[in-house]
Amino acid sequence: MGLRLIASPRFQDHLTPPGHPECPDRARVFDTVAGRWRVRGGEVVEPVPAGRDDLVQVHQAAYVDRLIGSAGRALRLDADTFTSAASIEVARLAAGAAIQAVDHACDRPGPVLALVRPPGHHAEWNRAMGFCLFNNAALAAARARARGLARVAIVDFDVHHGNGTQWLFYDDPSVLYVSVHQYPFYPGSGAAGEAGQGDGTGFTLNAPLEAGATDADYDLVFAELIGPVLERFDADLLVVSAGYDAHARDPLGGMRVTTGGFAAMVARLWSHAAARHRRLVAVTEGGYDLSALASSLEATIEVLSSAPSPPAPMAGHHTRAQAALRAVRAVHADYWPGL
Ligand SMILES: [Zn+2]
Repeated sequence: MGLRLIASPRFQDHLTPPGHPECPDRARVFDTVAGRWRVRGGEVVEPVPAGRDDLVQVHQAAYVDRLIGSAGRALRLDADTFTSAASIEVARLAAGAAIQAVDHACDRPGPVLALVRPPGHHAEWNRAMGFCLFNNAALAAARARARGLARVAIVDFDVHHGNGTQWLFYDDPSVLYVSVHQYPFYPGSGAAGEAGQGDGTGFTLNAPLEAGATDADYDLVFAELIGPVLERFDADLLVVSAGYDAHARDPLGGMRVTTGGFAAMVARLWSHAAARHRRLVAVTEGGYDLSALASSLEATIEVLSSAPSPPAPMAGHHTRAQAALRAVRAVHADYWPGL
């Protein structure tokens, strides 16, 4: 039972307009899942809000001040990103949970899962975007670097590309960003050719999958791309942007991943981390079908609270993965020879 959850009923207090997919009911799912974990004797930690000093580690100070200054008001920050009176405080709580998760994982190595909303991976240096206010996963990576960890890997399996996280570390060789996502799709970025710049060249890996990808497609990308790159990069901490909107039931995504498919991805990541430092921090991103979100989170908890064991390869068609692997290998041949 080494897994720790970070959760709070306060995540229900970020209100979005009626019919918005990133709705408070998602936080009720988090609370149900956390409640079950607590009943089983598992540890659930209350998050502490991130301070301005924390947030400016990855965000522009003027942006942070503008958001903090807007607390108490309902705003529309972009076409589909809204705040209510409590949203800024809740977003600071989500960011704080991600940062705290790193502290927990460093102080007592083991997996930590932060059940947070709003999500974070679309939030950029100076702007809110795609339901995201502060970039929770990026703040986690920045905290790990500030604590002296030399290398951090972020693996993002949300169905959308994590543009915010990618750009924040695009020229930074100490933070590896690996994303597998539907492409072409929102937010438009995430082509295989986006591979980092300057010293960070080669340390951004995008595996764009055509709509309709299956468990077998994701499994092949994890087995042949993500696993080998993580092995070679040899991070001191693994941050997972855990979005569950590639689920077949998801109303936004166009993929066909099952709950078992998510369990397999998490099992591969946990096996990798457990064989090294045991420092794994997973932070929730998207996932908009409530029952798929619940079952996928339960599956994630099952994997992270069990002895690590890599799953058997998943059978099925993986033509979409093969196309993505060809594209990634063509771009990254010079940076990751033999991949
Ligand atoms: Zn998403």
